[in-house]
Amino acid sequence: MSQSNVCKHGAIACLNQHELIRKYRCTDCGEVMMCSCDEAFGRRFLAHQLVEGRELDTQLRVPVTIAFQPNVCNGCRGLALEPAPAAAIPGRTSKIKRFYWRELFLRETEAVADWDAGHPDAPDEDVRSAHKRIEREVLDEIKQLHAAAPLYDMTEPSQADILDRCQVDVES
Ligand SMILES: [Zn+2]
Ligand SMILES: [Zn+2]
Repeated sequence: MSQSNVCKHGAIACLNQHELIRKYRCTDCGEVMMCSCDEAFGRRFLAHQLVEGRELDTQLRVPVTIAFQPNVCNGCRGLALEPAPAAAIPGRTSKIKRFYWRELFLRETEAVADWDAGHPDAPDEDVRSAHKRIEREVLDEIKQLHAAAPLYDMTEPSQADILDRCQVDVES
């Protein structure tokens, strides 16, 4: 029987930080939900990603049971965001691009779609240069945001730390 009507969803775990529209399971009631702050973007651009998530550890598909709910994600709860850097691939090697991949994608997608909607008859050349410009502007915005009030701690364990840990394991 569903407890979601009474549960305050106080114990939330993200199924997979690497999804654009993240899914969260409440460990009290077991319901799977998304955060209201992702609703407008999700419905506009990723409507096909709102019915299920894929759990990172198991790669199992997990159905969303109670759609969007308020104050689910760390940001909406006033908690620190968990860093989930994307892998470094060509075109995404900088730390800003790896740590802020999701913010960059959300802002860029929205800005590009708004520009396209406002310029329905623009020639391809103008569209391409506008998109390039938006990409640069959004990256600058995120760089400024990170400089003023970082969302993520971008200090990753150094090679020396990793070697230290391995050594400890070997000795013990
Ligand atoms: Zn709950
Ligand atoms: Zn939220």
